[in-house]
Amino acid sequence: MTTLDFSDLKGLFSTEKKILLTSHSNPDGDAIGSILALCQFFELHGHKVFMAVPNHFPDFLDWMPGQEKILIYERHKKKVDSLFKKSDIIFALDYNGPARIGDAKEQFINSSAIKILIDHHIDPEKSAFDRVYSNINVSSTAELVFDLMHQLAPSLINESISSCIYTGIMTDTGSFSYGCNYEKTFRIVAELYKNGIDGVKINRLVYSTFSENRLRLLGYALSQKLTVLEEFATAYIVLTKKELDSFNYQVGDTEGLVNFALSIKGIKLAVLFSERQNKIRVSFRSAGNFSVRNFALNHFEGGGHLNASGGDSYEPIDKTIENFHRLLSKYKDAIVNS
Ligand code: 5GP
Ligand code: MN
Repeated sequence: MTTLDFSDLKGLFSTEKKILLTSHSNPDGDAIGSILALCQFFELHGHKVFMAVPNHFPDFLDWMPGQEKILIYERHKKKVDSLFKKSDIIFALDYNGPARIGDAKEQFINSSAIKILIDHHIDPEKSAFDRVYSNINVSSTAELVFDLMHQLAPSLINESISSCIYTGIMTDTGSFSYGCNYEKTFRIVAELYKNGIDGVKINRLVYSTFSENRLRLLGYALSQKLTVLEEFATAYIVLTKKELDSFNYQVGDTEGLVNFALSIKGIKLAVLFSERQNKIRVSFRSAGNFSVRNFALNHFEGGGHLNASGGDSYEPIDKTIENFHRLLSKYKDAIVNS
């Protein structure tokens, strides 16, 4: 059980600072949970805090405390650009390098603020940050954020902050089903319950707020669009833009879908291809030790974790699937024997 030591940050926050909290493109529960927890914490600590993410986050996070204050770079470019210039400290939460924040990358690199990375992805781009707090053997970035707060000022961690941390841990582990074989994770969760969180309510708020369209899209994807290739221990789903439009697709509507493909007995690789405006978004999940991170990194301009990753294809959808089939033949043994 290794815990990162954040004590060297104490001095930095002993006087009032202007802080900008940032997270990655297509922000998820861990990204949003981590920035919202730290925002509340640093405000209580006496600092001026702003939050920015590259693009929209899913509606199922819109109940979270403080979410209305998050600046979306796509929409508030000018404001966020000025924050990159004026802030004393910038936190990079839940991503391992500036390439993950899309168009804000240049502003980040050019900022003279002290840049602090807190993340659980492999291979952090160390040279892009002044301080690097990285540990891949944790459930989520939210877990690391909890450690940071606990070491700086534990008495400030209230119920609201704890709910944000819980959301980060819960969503990054698929409700405690992967990436959480750690005693530490559950010790932290116990602390969050001690602080008064309602885990059952949070679970409902995040997972039981489907629109009718989203639920029907899920049904359609599973009954009509799932291809199972037993020979390759692989299952995949393809959704075209036209199909997504016919279910009035909203950001986040395909979240979690790929995991269903992985729930078939014997399946070790699951993939979701979903067609967007100018690219195909690809989500990968694996059950064994086949690294979908490397697969995404080497063939889909993406990355992520050993068992959960994502990337993009700029070929048309048919060509993308054709390429994928070719890759399956190449990686067959690695997948099947993983
Ligand atoms: P998802 O399939 O849920 O979109 O992504 C799963 C995980 O893969 C994310 O938590 C993130 O860590 C990683 N990931 C997704 N897309 C990308 C990408 O385009 N680049 C990189 N480096 N990582 C990604
Ligand atoms: Mn994460």
